[in-house]
Amino acid sequence: MRRLILSDIHANLEALEAVLADACNQYDEIVCCGDLVGYGASPAEVVAWARRNAAVIVRGNHDRACAGIEAMEDFNNAARDAALWTRHQLPYSDLAWLAALPAGPLRYELFEVAHGSPIDEDEYLVSDFEAYSVSRYIERPVSFIGHTHLQGLWSFRAGEFRKAPPVKPGQHEHSYTLDPASVYLVNPGAVGQPRDGDPRAGYALWDDASGTLLLRRVAYDIAGAQARIRQAGLPEHLASRLAHGR
Ligand code: ZN
Repeated sequence: MRRLILSDIHANLEALEAVLADACNQYDEIVCCGDLVGYGASPAEVVAWARRNAAVIVRGNHDRACAGIEAMEDFNNAARDAALWTRHQLPYSDLAWLAALPAGPLRYELFEVAHGSPIDEDEYLVSDFEAYSVSRYIERPVSFIGHTHLQGLWSFRAGEFRKAPPVKPGQHEHSYTLDPASVYLVNPGAVGQPRDGDPRAGYALWDDASGTLLLRRVAYDIAGAQARIRQAGLPEHLASRLAHGR
């Protein structure tokens, strides 16, 4: 099966549409690693799309916050303002659906999905050491995570690990052939709010039959997403940061 792996869409419809166009006809099923909403100005559109199209979704901390089941103690002011705004935009049925999303990890035959890490949905895996520390808890050949908004792929084999090189600015994708003797931790990157300095939307494609995994970046209508955020009266920082990918 060929899967489209998405994370941290964050109500950015322009970025989501660009990813879907770029990945068109290259997948059979959609997997989401959480944070459908929060920060961006199109929560209703993104939730409606996810309800119709995603086969696998775990909840993210912003999904919990927008649904009203998270105290938001770790949220900065912009994140809290956006969560409260989002709560007012969504009908009750969408809020109830968000609140009922499962916590990761969800485990399937060949892969598992979590928001933060395989042991804690709120853990940030940024450094190689942090990734290595959770590697022994990975129970499937491939573990997909999100949360940090940093695209990346680590492989672990017999106590050794490797971080794959990132997709560089100007490159569309990196292709990896997965080794059946290794396990992998993969962050597809953020669709809606990248934070690694490359403002393009990030996503992954994985074909479990051929063992091919692609990390990709695609340009999108950043000005359009920014205009919607400003029009909604959301904090200016949430609009301006999209241009920098920070
Ligand atoms: Zn997020």
